[in-house]
Amino acid sequence: MRYRLALLLAVLPAPVAAQRLVPAARGAASITAADVQRRIGIIADDSMLGRATPSPQLDAVAAYVAGEFQRFGLKPGGDSGTYFQHYPLEVWRLDPESSTVRISGHTPGVWRSGQEVLLVEGQPPPGAVTGTAVVITGSADAGGALDSATVTGKVVFLGYGPGLNAIAPKVLALRPLALMLVAAFPDTIWAKLPGHAASMSVRNPNSENGPAVPAVFVVRTATAAALFAQGGVSPDSLRAWGDRPLAARPLTDVTLQVDVRGRVQHASAPNAIGILEGSDPALKKEYVLFSAHMDHIGTPSAGEGCTARGADSICNGADDDGSGTVAVIELARAFTSARERPKRSLVFMTVSGEERGLWGSAYFADHPTVPLVDVIADLNIDMVGRNSKDTVAVIGREHSNLGATLDSVAAVHREFNIKPVGDLWPQEGLFFRSDHYNFAKKGVPILFFTTGLHPDYHQVSDSPEKIDAEKEARFARLVFYLGLTVANTSQRPRWKPESYKQIVGGGN
Ligand SMILES: [Zn+2]
Repeated sequence: MRYRLALLLAVLPAPVAAQRLVPAARGAASITAADVQRRIGIIADDSMLGRATPSPQLDAVAAYVAGEFQRFGLKPGGDSGTYFQHYPLEVWRLDPESSTVRISGHTPGVWRSGQEVLLVEGQPPPGAVTGTAVVITGSADAGGALDSATVTGKVVFLGYGPGLNAIAPKVLALRPLALMLVAAFPDTIWAKLPGHAASMSVRNPNSENGPAVPAVFVVRTATAAALFAQGGVSPDSLRAWGDRPLAARPLTDVTLQVDVRGRVQHASAPNAIGILEGSDPALKKEYVLFSAHMDHIGTPSAGEGCTARGADSICNGADDDGSGTVAVIELARAFTSARERPKRSLVFMTVSGEERGLWGSAYFADHPTVPLVDVIADLNIDMVGRNSKDTVAVIGREHSNLGATLDSVAAVHREFNIKPVGDLWPQEGLFFRSDHYNFAKKGVPILFFTTGLHPDYHQVSDSPEKIDAEKEARFARLVFYLGLTVANTSQRPRWKPESYKQIVGGGN
């Protein structure tokens, strides 16, 4: 941790004592492609290991953002006079040595974690649990239909292969005791599966984590075959899904005791927050919030879905959301370098835990450091460095008059050549997939800016050299003028009443 932090600090520019103040137009113009590219190079560098939540590298990036906020002259907007807001997490790590699956009346009588079975997901309840075994097949002839009587509380064997993603949710919804995914993994694949190294999962005690996922193991066909033979089921029946109705066939006289041991460590993750106080004695009690997320999905061991490709095992997250983080930093720099401060105050916030479930923004929304009723807008920026040169998708523009405000700002500032368009990926449900959602549902009008998805999304190939920094700089300048306009307009942004009812609930 220390040497990575030292590396990061070494690339920071030297602190400046006081900035020369320039007119607003020059503040906006000072957002350059070179600065955008340089900062993304820092945040999404391989040494940041993909900024998983929680990780020392994520903390290092938060320290970098906070250091910049301080250097720009922003007021600390976090807890206890700092630029940080930390929220608690629990990190659970498997103890493979003492974790086993014991099988009554079978030889061998134990499958060892990390050897015969690999735990790939789930954080089972502490202590040993015992259940009878069933196999999910695609023929209803010799088994019961898939229901709570046949699945709940059982150890369920399921073929690993095409169709699993459709079937697993149906099985999990019936709350099995554990799931055993069975496949004839060759040695080369088996050796690479997660679960050999320490398995881990991260819980956020402040958020609903959804129903607990039971222990999900993988086991090789060769290992399971003898058990299936003893229980009177052919291993081939696992592959017989096809279109036939699913059935649960009990393994006669087979009882398994799943004993998964792990340790819980208390940890935390940061939000970095800085405030520029408004110039108007009354309006400065209201805030325009600029947000983006610092975290990404790390490396395969973070359990956030990063998969190695060849020798590369770091999901850099240059676009997701290094680009948004850098936009927020650059906006903070541009606003603090402008001679006239906006009438309202501005909050610049980079959050964490977005990829695990919008955790940092949810924590801020529940524990705001400025009154949330006084936050008049959230302008959220997530993935703005890719795709077409001259458009940005603006999600949620139909829900308030912020969409119209943006259009008029873009019409005045045609020089940026950025056209705000609507949601280009309506089937993706993007409105619910970034941090603005936590503010929208509490009544804060929002706009969510994104240049959208691409083949490098959540891949090791979302790397800094692919960012269109020139376009991002033009985009950030446009958001500068939008923020300035929203902060200076006497009327607060207004929800469309039907949207308010739908998203926030109640009347408006
Ligand atoms: Zn993401």
